[in-house]
Amino acid sequence: MPGLTRLAVTRLVTGAFAWSSSGKTNDDLVTNLVRDRRLKLPAVEAALRRVDRKMFVLPAERGAAYDDRPLGIGYSATISAPHMHAAALEFLAPSIAEKGSVLDVGCGSGYLLAAFAALGARAAHGVEYAPDLAKLAESNLRAHDAALLDGGRVTVTTGDGWNGLPAKAPFDAIYVGAAATSVPRALVDQLRPGGRMVVPVGKQASKATLLRVDKDGAGVV
Ligand code: SAH
Repeated sequence: MPGLTRLAVTRLVTGAFAWSSSGKTNDDLVTNLVRDRRLKLPAVEAALRRVDRKMFVLPAERGAAYDDRPLGIGYSATISAPHMHAAALEFLAPSIAEKGSVLDVGCGSGYLLAAFAALGARAAHGVEYAPDLAKLAESNLRAHDAALLDGGRVTVTTGDGWNGLPAKAPFDAIYVGAAATSVPRALVDQLRPGGRMVVPVGKQASKATLLRVDKDGAGVV
């Protein structure tokens, strides 16, 4: 599965390394991801063109906003590399495109919440453990498109994502940005029949394997 390779490689790169898909502008970056076949679905491509990554990186990192690598956002967290965001969105696009509702566990910078909305999600809900990062996600999203927050289509909640977000469940798609030691039971329970979850699982975060969890129409995983 290409996603496995991508995750393993992402974990290994150092801050100084940039993938060949890097660009000078957001459009440039997306064009290069398509060229390098890290981005294949036209709907995901269109969504990524509408979300400027620069709005989701720290001011000090703006010069590197269109590098295809993770960037620090404080509190030992990173905004994932664009090719990782592209892979996550391609895995989940079939569950989201038909106005699905999405949960983003460990929403960090808030970038994926904006991308899920751009992809056509009816609702995109983020849960973030670190209160300051939840505030960062909200202010980034406000700068990107305040109407998403004001209209309640995108929300950010501070809390432990392993409990999911029962008040907003069930979800058509769940993306987990934090490494789990096992597939989180509460999140499987909050997945709607027909839904899909992507979650990195491993005893050590640096060696996590990206798993895809599909629940069929009868609720069987
Ligand atoms: N998709 C995000 C990735 C952020 S890094 C982005 O690209 O910006 C992973 C995030 O998960 C961090 O912000 C971290 O604070 C958060 N996190 C870790 N454990 C968590 C938990 N149990 N519940 C919620 N968030 C968690």
